[in-house]
Amino acid sequence: MGATDMSILPYANQYVSELVAYKPGKPIEETAREIGMAPEQIVKLASNENPVGPSPKAVKAMQEAAARVNIYPDGASFAIRTKLAAQFGVGFENTAVGSGSSELIELLAHAFVKPGVEVLAADYSFTLYEIVTKLLNGRYISVPNKNTWTTDLEALAAAITPATRLVFITNPTNPVGSMVGQAEIDAFMTKVPESVVVVFDEAYLDFAEEKVDTVKFVKAGRNVCVLRTFSKAYGLAGARIGAAITTPVIADLLNKARSPFNVNSIIQAGVLAAMDDTEHLNHCISVIKSGRKQYEAAFAAWGIEYVPSHTNFILAKVGSGSEVFRACLQQGVILRPMDGYGLKEYIRISIGTEEENKRCLEVLGKVLGKA
Ligand SMILES: *Cc1c(COP(=O)(O)O)cnc(C)c1O
Repeated sequence: MGATDMSILPYANQYVSELVAYKPGKPIEETAREIGMAPEQIVKLASNENPVGPSPKAVKAMQEAAARVNIYPDGASFAIRTKLAAQFGVGFENTAVGSGSSELIELLAHAFVKPGVEVLAADYSFTLYEIVTKLLNGRYISVPNKNTWTTDLEALAAAITPATRLVFITNPTNPVGSMVGQAEIDAFMTKVPESVVVVFDEAYLDFAEEKVDTVKFVKAGRNVCVLRTFSKAYGLAGARIGAAITTPVIADLLNKARSPFNVNSIIQAGVLAAMDDTEHLNHCISVIKSGRKQYEAAFAAWGIEYVPSHTNFILAKVGSGSEVFRACLQQGVILRPMDGYGLKEYIRISIGTEEENKRCLEVLGKVLGKA
């Protein structure tokens, strides 16, 4: 890098230049090049992607929409928001959509975070919460869990100060896979003041063994924002769409902060078809639930510690996570090391198809000297 490349850096916002960029799972193509395998031979279980794929009906709708991309998308995402409102039993004005729920997380920060503002989340939370907080020069506070793995809602409530504006609660959690139940959530909500927005990020709720209802707080007029994504159970991660169910005031703020055409016309068509294909959705969920059992059975047989999962991934204690990651990578299986979360002894494995899970367990068993 030449001197001229660096010369602008002192003029950049320091709170941006100091950010640690989000680290995604290792891409298949890159791995294929590095280890000299064909991309088709590589199994990627690193980004909690849907191993089944999108609904064929959604694919058809997206193909048809592709022929009309000369026209701007509907900036209001009218059809999707109408459908979401009906599904969740709320009004159209209670909805907002974004280019993935990631964008909605960023828009929440744009609406509420500034210097002096505090944002709370549990330890080992999705790193994006911290990134968007710091992007707006706010203060991110990570609150320790109960028994290492469970979001401590009592501690989160106790950590709220007059400066707190956002509390992110991932339920079920990522990268841990644990979950808090309805009774704890209800008790927590009695302690939250009006000056705080509680964000329930429910990216993985479709896979949970337990059901919780947080939309009821929105209906009751509480300052709650429920985030759902179509990236996981619906298998639309690459096309980018997420939804917020929230109060009309918060939805309006999100709509003001976004760019005019944030959700493209291809995914707008795709998601409408996907929402109708409940058969495909249920199939995807059942593949994940039986895949989870494959891993839990293997780990139990090997005497490997793992966190019982409510999600489409599983966190396992393997010694050195980064070494196990590298060894599995050499065999064409991409997993997710957890160093970035301060969980050096762990590896996160996204649940794949039955075949992919078998291959992963064969490779992992060899690497760990268990099979
Ligand atoms: C995957 C995930 C999301 C969804 O991200 P998209 O931007 O909708 O793809 C949101 N929150 C958490 C915790 C996740 O793991």
